[in-house]
Amino acid sequence: MRPEGYQVTWVDNLHTAQPLIDETGADLVVVEEQLIDGSFRQLLEVLERQHPTVPAVLFTNKAPDALPKTFVRPGLIGVLTSPLRPEEVLDIVEVGLAHRQRWQAWARTESLRTTRSLRRQVDDLEALAQVGQSVTAMLDLDRVLTAVVEAAVELTGAEEGSLLLIDEASGDLYMRAARNFQDEFVQTFRLPVQDTLAGQVIQSGKPILVDEKTPQKIKTSYLVHTLIYVPLKVHGRVIGVLGVDNRQSGHVFKEHHIPLLSAMADYAAIAIDNARLYSRTEIERRKLETILTEIEDGVIVLDPHEQVILINHTARLIFGLDEEDDLNGGPLRELIQNRDLINALDQSGETPYRIEIELEEGRTFNVQFTPIPDVGQAVTMQDVTHFKELDRIKSDFVSTVSHDLRSPLTAILGYVELIDRSGPTTAQQREFIQRVQISVKNITELINNLLDLGRIEAGLDAQREPVPVPAIVNYAIDGLQHQLSEKNHRLTVDMPEDLPPVRGNPIRIRQLFDNLIENAIKYTPPEGEIRIQLQREEDQVIAQVTDTGIGIPRADQPYIFDKLYRATNLDSDTPGTGLGLSIVKSIVESHHGRIWVESNPGKGSTFIVVLPITPEA
Ligand code: ADP
Repeated sequence: MRPEGYQVTWVDNLHTAQPLIDETGADLVVVEEQLIDGSFRQLLEVLERQHPTVPAVLFTNKAPDALPKTFVRPGLIGVLTSPLRPEEVLDIVEVGLAHRQRWQAWARTESLRTTRSLRRQVDDLEALAQVGQSVTAMLDLDRVLTAVVEAAVELTGAEEGSLLLIDEASGDLYMRAARNFQDEFVQTFRLPVQDTLAGQVIQSGKPILVDEKTPQKIKTSYLVHTLIYVPLKVHGRVIGVLGVDNRQSGHVFKEHHIPLLSAMADYAAIAIDNARLYSRTEIERRKLETILTEIEDGVIVLDPHEQVILINHTARLIFGLDEEDDLNGGPLRELIQNRDLINALDQSGETPYRIEIELEEGRTFNVQFTPIPDVGQAVTMQDVTHFKELDRIKSDFVSTVSHDLRSPLTAILGYVELIDRSGPTTAQQREFIQRVQISVKNITELINNLLDLGRIEAGLDAQREPVPVPAIVNYAIDGLQHQLSEKNHRLTVDMPEDLPPVRGNPIRIRQLFDNLIENAIKYTPPEGEIRIQLQREEDQVIAQVTDTGIGIPRADQPYIFDKLYRATNLDSDTPGTGLGLSIVKSIVESHHGRIWVESNPGKGSTFIVVLPITPEA
């Protein structure tokens, strides 16, 4: 072959042959049946996989007709048998090279074709990504849908494009967005779902490509030569179609346009769904805003830094704030002058907090501070002026009536005592007299309690003097000694000697301890334990009265300081008026103190009273 101008390289094993072909290339390979380290088949496999355009010729000692069928492999273009004749070799080499050329030419056109198709796919994808980007950046649904239709027209090279949606009311299709249609046509366009191409797409959920010679009118309502419709799906439900068409020319749509349009339809569907969700949330938000603004109660919502997030109309009225001012983000402490509210803001924290504040014009508001996780806190205000007034009228009425009842009761008691002295009485008469006396004493006690409460609430015991609390507690214990020993209770008292006096009204403070200790005795079964403890904490005296009695059910605990309230765990014949703790609470409050109860039902209760040593004026 060399004299004929061919370059020939000779190798005798697969191991060297393979890299040689890989690196320097070869136009033809002649291979002997058996190589040192493998068979010609292995070399042919390598060629087929990595150099499919390199033809191979097999050189064998076998007679051609003795060759098994399995010798025939792709790439093998001929067989040489010995003895070799130069012409035969050159012939086959030429045939091989011709093959090589044909194969190479084919490979070139094929790669050009796939490159073109790849190029087109890349272009399509780029266009899609671009539309996707601009579409997702838009919030206005009209603009998004128009952009989608425009992109659909551009990507497919169509004359017109439209987005048809089902009208929920009529069930027909209307044109939600369009490109290259006349406005009037768009506005009046209506297409039934039945027996139309768009309807077919909606019912089947599958795209359609019409490429017929005869123009379609009946099924589209306007003449088209070629058309594509793809379904618009939201959560698996078809809500409309995206379509492109050609009316004038017979410009042909391709199959690959369908996935493109489907991707565009997905963008439109997402935008429609988002808009629907957004409008639903927006409606809810507006509803909530209207409720908050129109509500009769004052509402202020604060962020964790006490800056206003929302303030409604009523709240503005309450604090005399201008309706027009934008208060959002303003610090509440600077916007509102009311001292009580500002003080309450200091007190409010992790748990809800309630106070009553009085405005200058005499109106009273019940103000509730409610912490809201992740937001801050809500301040709600109800006008309770009316209830306060009712309460005052009721108290006045009660105190007048009680006062007027006291004199006749004293008279009854006096005369009942006289019955005994005015002549002999029978044993039964004496028992009746005793019952009348007990009842009248009970009524008198109730009336005295009511009058006391009225006086304390009206602030009539305003005179203050230094009150030595331990001495008062001792007097109270002395007064109740009889009841204590009757029930055989064990009493422990724990009071420091040097407790400073509290500024207050000694009679009322005595009444306070009388009531608490009397209750402890009353609501503790015989042989119980009662413990009284006084201590100083900074400028406060803390008094605790603890018993091992019946306790107070949790549900009753918030109400036991209310007038006439008695807990639900009492027997119906337990003596008492339900006024004692209301008196205690009024006394504590008129001394600027606080009182609360900690009680374990069935185990016992502790009443805790905090009295300031020098109360604020
Ligand atoms: P009462 O005249 O009924 O004792 P109070 O106003 O003094 O009225 O108390 C209100 C209610 O609180 C009582 O009826 C009782 O149910 C409950 N109570 C008060 N003190 C105690 C206590 N130490 N142990 C259990 N329950 C108590």
